[in-house]
Amino acid sequence: MGDHRMRVLIIGGGFGGLFCARRLGDANVEVTLLDRAAGHLFQPLLYQCATGTLSIGHISRPLREEFAHHRNVTTLLGEAIELDDASRRVTARRPDETTFTIDYDILVIAAGMQQSYFRNPEFAQWAPGMKTLDDALRIRQRLFTAFEIAETLPAGPERDSWLTFAVAGAGPTGVELAGQIREVATRTLANEFHTIDPEDARVLLFDGGDRVLKSFAPDLASKATATLQRLGVELRLGVHVTDVCREGVTVTPKGGGPDQEYSARTVLWTAGVEAVPFARHIADVLAAPSDGCGRIQVEADLSVPGHPEIFVIGDLVGRDELPGVAENAMQGGLHVASCIRRGLEGKPRRAYRYRDLGSAAYISRWNALLQVGPIKLAGFAGWLAWGLIHIAVLTGVRNRASTVMTWLATIARAGRYHRAFMLGDSHANSEQRYTWSDCADQSTRPQARRLD
Ligand SMILES: Cc1cc2nc3c(=O)[nH]c(=O)nc-3n(C[C@H](O)[C@H](O)[C@H](O)COP(=O)(O)OP(=O)(O)OC[C@H]3O[C@@H](n4cnc5c(N)ncnc54)[C@H](O)[C@@H]3O)c2cc1C
Repeated sequence: MGDHRMRVLIIGGGFGGLFCARRLGDANVEVTLLDRAAGHLFQPLLYQCATGTLSIGHISRPLREEFAHHRNVTTLLGEAIELDDASRRVTARRPDETTFTIDYDILVIAAGMQQSYFRNPEFAQWAPGMKTLDDALRIRQRLFTAFEIAETLPAGPERDSWLTFAVAGAGPTGVELAGQIREVATRTLANEFHTIDPEDARVLLFDGGDRVLKSFAPDLASKATATLQRLGVELRLGVHVTDVCREGVTVTPKGGGPDQEYSARTVLWTAGVEAVPFARHIADVLAAPSDGCGRIQVEADLSVPGHPEIFVIGDLVGRDELPGVAENAMQGGLHVASCIRRGLEGKPRRAYRYRDLGSAAYISRWNALLQVGPIKLAGFAGWLAWGLIHIAVLTGVRNRASTVMTWLATIARAGRYHRAFMLGDSHANSEQRYTWSDCADQSTRPQARRLD
């Protein structure tokens, strides 16, 4: 290390990286926080941004602003692409594709997961996932444009397909999105169109399981099912989405039987996650064992086996079936910061212990689920608890205050104040802009494929 202060490089400014850097903010170390995005993103409210309730500013905060008062924390914009563990150096790519390197004494990998299409990456062009701000804005564009296009079409199958929205995956994100789309159709847009009736919009929610929200207790999931059905969401359970194309989706029943095709010009994907490419690179370089999704196996203190100078935190941790939730990432970040601080004092590291503080899911206005140990709340009580928790965890006082004000305004009136969307690059051909396709010749429906 020589006579310089210990250099801690954190890759990823999500929940794990943010909390680790904050806790090191007054320690005798030099911290570099590298992220391929310029802001910390509050993923749990992405669906509200996608459906026009919140703006991108509500759910993200510039990392530079967050650490402006921590003189020992430097934030850098760039995507980590290569690790040289022998010389303890990471290469990162700037947005203009040029590269730079960063040296470290301690490396913390907090790069999270990305959407998985289960070995069908071509689905992504038709069915955006829900992990980044870009995803949220893309979904917002497709959602509101679909109603606009339907308004200009005569009644018939083509118009119906623009008014049909297919959501793959009935976990919390899929459930939240499906409920919100029905609320957009039945409340926000109800009186704004002349040719179509937005309330006719169909929202189809597909999942391979036999119930929605598998991570919640069965009685809470039943309540969510009843609420979704009351909203008009059509549940299609026990099926795998085996093909996605411009015209819609093909599903294959898990229990056998013929494939079914659904016409839907808007398809959204929330069905699975996998490690980001850099995490797979790390596992290769360090010969670290990882699971099928790319989560890296770690020691009890969250360091990589044989590499006490490299930690993994958050969604990327493959140990003890730790859940992919914000609380695990935040606690992991604090734990690693504590290991580093204890190291400075010559004290041994402690083992990581995750404390499960429960989970919550928003279903519709006045209606959410909360599950904390034996405590289970649904309906209005769940909604109130859900709101308080999200406000408490949202980054930045200004974001909290403006989110509360926006929610109150949305509750008071049916309007959504952040519906504005862009149509994309005006130089792109019309096929690409209005069919969401990169390749005009992909309009034919290929043979159905199974995911598993
Ligand atoms: C739509 C959605 C809703 C969710 N809802 C909830 C919820 O209600 N409650 C809950 O507890 N959890 C929820 N989660 C899960 C929660 O958001 C994650 O568990 C949490 O964000 C994981 O934190 P992390 O730090 O591991 O990764 P992330 O928060 O994903 O952060 C990873 C960071 O790494 C950066 N990055 C990735 N690769 C690179 C690279 N090569 N170089 C530089 N930077 C890189 C990314 O830009 C990102 O900022 C939700 C997730 C999503 C997507």
